[in-house]
Amino acid sequence: MIRKIEHLGIAVKNIESANKVYEALLGSAPYKQESVESESVITSFFKTGESKIELLEGTTADSPISKYIEKRGEGLHHVAFDVDDIVAEMEKLKKMGFTLLSDVPKRGADNKLICFVHPKSTNGVLVELCQSQRDPSGEIKG
Ligand code: ZN
Repeated sequence: MIRKIEHLGIAVKNIESANKVYEALLGSAPYKQESVESESVITSFFKTGESKIELLEGTTADSPISKYIEKRGEGLHHVAFDVDDIVAEMEKLKKMGFTLLSDVPKRGADNKLICFVHPKSTNGVLVELCQSQRDPSGEIKG
């Protein structure tokens, strides 16, 4: 089940200068900066009430974020929904005809299991499903 918008992902050319812009806009500093090697990306996260803003900068010229910016410029990159059971959600969406970008959940930033839904099946918007991971103490992070 999709529970809420977890975060909005914004593709930026330079995360340090974008951090300053969003810190001024939102009135607080990013609570986390994290590099995700598998996606060749540096991310920073800002809290906005129940939801978050994720800034993403590509770390290599052929990273998906760098290619996105090259083609479409900086801007809104994806909408991420919080799901309680990502595997069940992926199976359900696949059966309904949505195109998923991976067959199994991947490890994303912010302690999440993630899967992207291809924008061609969601009216041009890249959709991310994400599920918080429990650490061994049973506490839900993020
Ligand atoms: Zn995201």
